[in-house]
Amino acid sequence: MLKSPSLSLNKAVKRSQYASLNLLILIFVQNFEGVFAAPSEPAQTNAAVAELVMQIDPLMQQKRYSEAEILLKKALIISPDNPSIHASYGYAIQKQGRFEESVEHYEAALKGLPDATLVRMSFGHVLKNLGRYEEALTQYKQVLAQDPSYPMALRMTAAVLILMQRSQDSVQYANKLLEVEPTLADKLFLADILEQSRNYDAALSKYKEILVSDPKFLDAVNGCAACLWSMGQQSEAVSYYERATEIDPARQRSWLKLLHYYLRTGRLKDWITCEEKVAERFPDSPELKRLTNYKKEVAADVELNTLCQHNSVDYLNRASHRSGKKTWNERIIPVYIEPTQSSTVGGNPKFNEILREAFKDWAEASAGRVSFKFVEMPTQSLITCRWISNPDQLPITGTNACCTAKSDGARITKADIVLLTTNSTFPDTALPLDYVKAITRHEVGHALGLEGHSDDVKDVMFTYPGSSKLTQRDVNTIRRLYAKKS
Ligand SMILES: [Zn+2]
Repeated sequence: MLKSPSLSLNKAVKRSQYASLNLLILIFVQNFEGVFAAPSEPAQTNAAVAELVMQIDPLMQQKRYSEAEILLKKALIISPDNPSIHASYGYAIQKQGRFEESVEHYEAALKGLPDATLVRMSFGHVLKNLGRYEEALTQYKQVLAQDPSYPMALRMTAAVLILMQRSQDSVQYANKLLEVEPTLADKLFLADILEQSRNYDAALSKYKEILVSDPKFLDAVNGCAACLWSMGQQSEAVSYYERATEIDPARQRSWLKLLHYYLRTGRLKDWITCEEKVAERFPDSPELKRLTNYKKEVAADVELNTLCQHNSVDYLNRASHRSGKKTWNERIIPVYIEPTQSSTVGGNPKFNEILREAFKDWAEASAGRVSFKFVEMPTQSLITCRWISNPDQLPITGTNACCTAKSDGARITKADIVLLTTNSTFPDTALPLDYVKAITRHEVGHALGLEGHSDDVKDVMFTYPGSSKLTQRDVNTIRRLYAKKS
């Protein structure tokens, strides 16, 4: 039986749980010599493996995992049951994203080194990434059985529990972590867990506590904004997003968030001013093209506010201001929805279902004045809908969707709706289904002849589609547009 190299080292790293798991491998490599001097293996084997380890060590330190993997493979041929090599091998392939493959090596490693905390932590991380949450929890709990206050295990247990939607249990572990290490980072962790548990009041007060200690803690500022937004306190939320741009004006993402929330709260003039600041501050940003294009849309809506008076009943005057009232003559409009391609990035089979519901919602709102039938072939349709993933392929760039309609005088003859499956504002974030609901209703509204926008953020036809449910004003507007037909 080989001696565990990690036991003594566990103590050294125990209190510095933020030390990356990268440390794990260094610990192993540094201890190889001791491990291979074990009496159970012939001296010759030890010498051959030790020689390989001398080469593996610098490769692992330099994160050259694929090169290290080749040598580790050789070491495993010489010493196939060596748990330290299995651990290092598992780690080297895990770092290359091959989680599934690393499992058997971690299992082999832990068989020989059951008390190797860092190996167990690393194995838990692999299982978490594979979505095997129960098994990940088992690993973390074994670590906690040895040391109930091991910070990294407390943190990871809380993180896995929140993924399993066991929010109360998760909060319990995050609280325990904070008892062990009352740092601002751990307070932030607890606040994040509370926010993910939708316990916005508690999360907000934790974020605020952090800001008392460090008023410029950006994650806490953003956390306050997100909680306030979820609590329906929109203008307070926006003021925190403004604060984020003041704390770190070089961070473009904060500006993009602020722009997004200005739109969602209907602050179009503030949006334009902010866009100008972004253009000045980030002249080379690839975002700029999209924003500049979108600015035309926003500016047109700001102008409409001065030309058309607000009407509490409907917004038909604004929606038809630019090109007059246009409607379909067909009572039943044939619609073709292109099947969602599984190859389309961000595509989701639910999107088409949501799109169909959008047509149904408008048909219902019109009280029989317009209705639709879904057809199998694009050639049979008058309205076509398709999803794309590349924002540059939209007929009008700068938006997340687009509807182009052809008309023959006051009669609409054809409409094409193109929708993005990806988030053009925050490309690393998937499109929320609520947003898909909102944008599909918005674009179908355009296809029905509501060419312009509403001036109320609550309406689906507002400049930025934030609402996923047709309001009474939306209903009144479509009914008035098609009134002559009834
Ligand atoms: Zn629009």
